[in-house]
Amino acid sequence: MTPEHLQKQLGLSLPSPLQRFTPNWPGAENVTLWVKRDDLIHPIISGNKWRKLSQLLADHAATTQHIVSFGGGFSNHLHALGWCCQQLGIEFTALVRGNYGASPTPMLTDLSRWQANIRYLTKLEYRQRDEPDFLADLSEQYPGALIIPEGGSQHAALAGVQTMLAECPSPFDKIITPVASGATMAGIINGAGMIAGVSARQQVLGIAVLKGVGYLEDLVAQFLPAKSNRDWQILHHYHHGGYARTSPALLTLCEEMQQAYAIPVEPVYSGKVFYAVKALLAQGAFAAGEQVIIVHTGGLQGARTDPDSHS
Ligand SMILES: *Cc1c(COP(=O)(O)O)cnc(C)c1O
Repeated sequence: MTPEHLQKQLGLSLPSPLQRFTPNWPGAENVTLWVKRDDLIHPIISGNKWRKLSQLLADHAATTQHIVSFGGGFSNHLHALGWCCQQLGIEFTALVRGNYGASPTPMLTDLSRWQANIRYLTKLEYRQRDEPDFLADLSEQYPGALIIPEGGSQHAALAGVQTMLAECPSPFDKIITPVASGATMAGIINGAGMIAGVSARQQVLGIAVLKGVGYLEDLVAQFLPAKSNRDWQILHHYHHGGYARTSPALLTLCEEMQQAYAIPVEPVYSGKVFYAVKALLAQGAFAAGEQVIIVHTGGLQGARTDPDSHS
């Protein structure tokens, strides 16, 4: 099956819109801003999670009877994957970090409704999720199952992310995306290189949504070819204290995005990106006349309950 067949079967809206964004923010008048609305691909499948899963699901949908994957109690990835599996008639097992048995999150309640098997792992077990021995044990427990890493972040994810770039007109100067596992950013870096050729001046800017100077750069770099000469950079000033941490200013900005611009954002990923863009504009960080694309990666699970309760 091709990703195109699969997206039709799942009822996804692709390509996603690329919308002009003209906020009333200091500095915005000097540049041309666009928002790539991957949040509009589907109400349940979070934008970048579809991009990351599309190739893998297309390759395996016809032959796989069981998929196993990992995530936290608010995981956009488990939510997207759980829904896809239900639609495709594939058994799904979610290995969840921590025990929410007594008070399942809305995301986990959805998974149960979609007949997923939910298994809670201790934090110690969860930490082994990428270790070969642990994965070999899982393969024995779930014979024939396709085991997908946390966040769907693996090499196969990059091809799907690159299709997002193919939907954008080539003459842009900067493209901005949130960074957690780094696979989305790496896919964008590779995709930008493919469209523009080696002489490109496009820069990919990542907004770190968690604290991790150096660590996040390594995560992105591991997905890139060794001789990649693309211009990319991760900004570390906009995580608001760490993963799923917020600040009053961030929450105000999230509200402003909805009220003033009718773009829903949550404080875990896209809220931090728009917050960063507003700050960068005020600092005059963009050259006059630059074309800037902001990737709205979707994913509103973090907005369904107090995101500070993420563990
Ligand atoms: C998972 C997620 C991200 C992070 O993507 P990575 O590829 O892990 O860096 C960004 N935005 C949203 C909405 C997500 O759900």
